[in-house]
Amino acid sequence: MIPPVASKFVAGETPGEALDHVAVLNRRNVSGILNLLGEHYHDPASAISDTNAYLELIDEIAATDVDACVSVKPSQIGLGVGDDEFEANLTKIADHGAERGVFVWVDMEDHTTTDVTLDVFESLARRHDGGERSDGGMGLCVQANLKRTREDLERLADVPGKVRLVKGAYDEPTEIAYKQKDQVDKAYREHLEFMFEQFEDGIAIGSHDPAMIAHVRELHRTHGTPYEVQMLMGVRTDAQYELASDDVTVYQYIPYGNRWMSYFYRRLRERKENVLFALRAIVS
Ligand code: FAD
Repeated sequence: MIPPVASKFVAGETPGEALDHVAVLNRRNVSGILNLLGEHYHDPASAISDTNAYLELIDEIAATDVDACVSVKPSQIGLGVGDDEFEANLTKIADHGAERGVFVWVDMEDHTTTDVTLDVFESLARRHDGGERSDGGMGLCVQANLKRTREDLERLADVPGKVRLVKGAYDEPTEIAYKQKDQVDKAYREHLEFMFEQFEDGIAIGSHDPAMIAHVRELHRTHGTPYEVQMLMGVRTDAQYELASDDVTVYQYIPYGNRWMSYFYRRLRERKENVLFALRAIVS
C-alpha cells in the first residue's frame, strides 16, 4: 500500500484506485492521463506484462464513464529490448485504444530514443488517421530543451495527432540540448508560436509554468487553435482547478502502480517545497 505521504503524487497501486482518483477530478472538470509506473525494462517479459496492463486499463476506462486516456513510456513497453518489440507493443496499445475510443499518449524519454519514438509514432498515427480505428486518437510528447525539436515539430505538423510540448526532464549533453533555463524557456515560447500557427489537431502544454500558460492563452486568443494544459498529479492542483473553471481544457497526468518509490523520490528531489511537504506529513 502507498503511504499517505506519497499519495499526493501517486494515485494508488491499482487501476481501480487510479480511476477513482480520475472520477474525483472529473467532477471539477479536469480529465485524467493515466500512467502505469515503469521504465527501462531490458527483458521482454516485463515489457509484455506492462503492455498487457495497458490493454486492461484501456478496457477499464472504456467500461466506465470516466474521462481519461493513457500515456506510455517507450522503454516500458519494449524499447530497451529492441525497436521491433517497442513497435509491436505500441501497435497493440494504439489499436486497442482506437477500438475502444481511448486516447493514447506516448511520453518522450532521453535523446537516444527520439528518432525511433518519432518514427513509430508517425507510422501508427498515419495508419489510424481516417480509418475505422481513428476514434481514440494518439499524441506524442516533444521536449523544448532539445535543439532538434523545431525540425521535429515541422515534421509533426503534417502528422495526425496531438503534440504535448514539455521543457524536458532528462539531463542531455550540451552539444544537442539547451542547458540554461532561459534558453529552454525561449525555445518553449518559440515552439508554442510555431505550433499555434501550424498545428490543427490540438496542442498540449505539459507545464506548470504560469508564464508559459499565460503565453498559450494569448496565442489561443490570436489563433483560435484548440489547446489543453497538462500538469502532474500533486503539482499546482489549485491552478488546475482554476484553469478548468475558466473553461480551459485541463488534464492531470496521474501515475499509479507498485513501482511508485523512485517516482516519489524524483518529485521530492526536484523541489524543496516537496521535501518540506513530506517532512510535515511524516511528523504530523
Ligand atoms: P519549470 O521550468 O520547472 O518551472 C517553471 C515555474 O513553474 C516555476 O517557477 C513555478 O512557478 C512553476 N512550477 C514548476 N514546478 C512546480 C511545482 N512542483 N510546484 C509549484 N510550482 C511549480 N518530460 C519529458 O522529458 N518527457 C515527457 O514525456 C514528459 N511528460 C510530461 C507530462 C506532463 C503532463 C508534465 C506536466 C510534464 C512532463 N514532463 C516530461 C516533464 C517536463 O519536461 C518538465 O521537466 C517539468 O514539467 C518541469 O517543467 P515546468 O515547465 O513544469 O516548469
